Amino acid sequence: MASLYFKQLALGPMQNFVYLIGDPVTREAAVVDPAWNVPEIIKQAKKDGYRITHALLSHGHYDHINGVEDLVAKTDATVCAQAVELERFIPEGAGGLVIPRSSLKKTATGQAVKVGNLEITLIHTPGHTPGSQCMWIKTPETGSGLLLTGDTLFVGTCGRCDLPYSNPHQMYHSLTQLKKLDEKTVFYPGHDYGMTPTNTIENEKRTNPFLLADSLDQFLEMVHH
Ligand SMILES: [Zn+2]
Repeated sequence: MASLYFKQLALGPMQNFVYLIGDPVTREAAVVDPAWNVPEIIKQAKKDGYRITHALLSHGHYDHINGVEDLVAKTDATVCAQAVELERFIPEGAGGLVIPRSSLKKTATGQAVKVGNLEITLIHTPGHTPGSQCMWIKTPETGSGLLLTGDTLFVGTCGRCDLPYSNPHQMYHSLTQLKKLDEKTVFYPGHDYGMTPTNTIENEKRTNPFLLADSLDQFLEMVHH
């Protein structure tokens, strides 16, 4: 049996990707970035025989979290986001998101969230927002893993860092961190902006101009133009 339940859903008017990740043994699943169409997300999980227990937030922008309230109301899922995003960014930047406090779980880098027996390791990757995070899951079948990158890394480009609360210096360091991951890692971004919906870190390091920048100065010059 596969070690992982994994589904990429394209939802909403902004080319967002929403993900379902679950444990095929316990049939529990997490939604990464619940947004746009919660009934459809729940329907997919149900159809595949999964119960949603967690919502994992890559970051706090509206187009990634606008389904959190609805999802929590319908499933009582535990919401996990980086502490800095929950304390500063979501209250100040996104406004109006009400999540029952008992459902909130602040997460930190290196920490793993368990969904059933599945371990999802969170990597804090600030830059696009202060509390952006990527999620890494081991896939024994490939001898490597898969990575959900939110708006930090896209196929062919990286997340904007000219927005309020963005920080291009931090983005450079976050991308440097991702470049050090096992090259066979397959990553899945938060938007369908590339030639393909997914890519390997290895290919991306060869082709993505923002990963090819070999100094902070060069990177800053690229994002400022
Ligand atoms: Zn964003």
